[in-house]
Amino acid sequence: MAKKERRYRVTIRCLSCGERFLLRGRKDEDGNLTTGFKRCICGNDKQLHIDYTEE
Ligand SMILES: [Zn+2]
Repeated sequence: MAKKERRYRVTIRCLSCGERFLLRGRKDEDGNLTTGFKRCICGNDKQLHIDYTEE
């Protein structure tokens, strides 16, 4: 049986350089948001502001 997955529209803003990334994400069974985002183009992967809304 296929699980129902909620999809989210995710906006990640880098607090280091201000770059914005628009991504699609989903939540796993534990409620962790997964987007596939690795790091910003400036190399920052920790100081990020993440917003998401359900699609
Ligand atoms: Zn950056």
